[in-house]
Amino acid sequence: MKIKFWGTRGSIATPLPDRMKYGGDTSCVEIITHEHREIILDAGTGIRRLGEAVMGRKATCKGGALLLSHLHWDHIQGFPFFIPIYDPHFTWQVYGPYRIDQTLEDRLKKQMSDLFFPVILEEVSSTLEFIGVVEEEFHLGKTRVIPRFQNHPQGSYGYRIEDGGKSVAYMTDIEHPDDQVPEETRTLAKDADLLIFDAQYTPEEYVKHIGWGHSTWVTACQIAKACNVKQLVLFHHDPGHDDDFIDDMVDKAREMFPNTIAASRDLEIEL
Ligand SMILES: [Zn+2]
Ligand SMILES: [Zn+2]
Repeated sequence: MKIKFWGTRGSIATPLPDRMKYGGDTSCVEIITHEHREIILDAGTGIRRLGEAVMGRKATCKGGALLLSHLHWDHIQGFPFFIPIYDPHFTWQVYGPYRIDQTLEDRLKKQMSDLFFPVILEEVSSTLEFIGVVEEEFHLGKTRVIPRFQNHPQGSYGYRIEDGGKSVAYMTDIEHPDDQVPEETRTLAKDADLLIFDAQYTPEEYVKHIGWGHSTWVTACQIAKACNVKQLVLFHHDPGHDDDFIDDMVDKAREMFPNTIAASRDLEIEL
């Protein structure tokens, strides 16, 4: 499978020259499976540029699956700007956390309502199918997806994606303990070829942000080690961290887990 990072930033976009190496767009990661299926992880502002790329591939792409970790702004803000939702050529399966009180569709209708946006969700011309995610695995073609609930304000889902004998764990917006590895974490990350993990904070910053729903690069390294992953990608960069700061985090992280990189703008990885 092929993985591309269109959005790497947490919380809010940072279009600043000293943050362009690691990227200013919020969370959006694209996976193209060995069957050439399109899977998109989160619809942060990075999905706008991905949408342009998808439009250029219309001859071979008829849509795909959008897997939302949760519906905080930085994970959905690009959705109304994802041009392929306005084209009847495409069908998109939108997966996101199930809630008993409101469907996923109703929640996204609030984002694209006339209170906040000129186009309402009912007006988009692609076919959209909404699927509430619970802790039950599902398949997209021959690709297996395992979702697990994560500790985050209002919750989030991490996804393990197994495709063509390789595996990626996408674990963002998770406040993870650094002294234990619960069963859910093992289910997602065990022996993964790639672990994309929330590393928003340094340990010093974390103590001032307990309960905010994010982890540190130290925790990311500990999970990578404990779960025997092959490569770690630090993700969901804090908007206050410039490129030099993240370079420094990566250097420190490599002392704990050598095969570590930080997600950067347009980074591509093939497994
Ligand atoms: Zn986030
Ligand atoms: Zn969040």
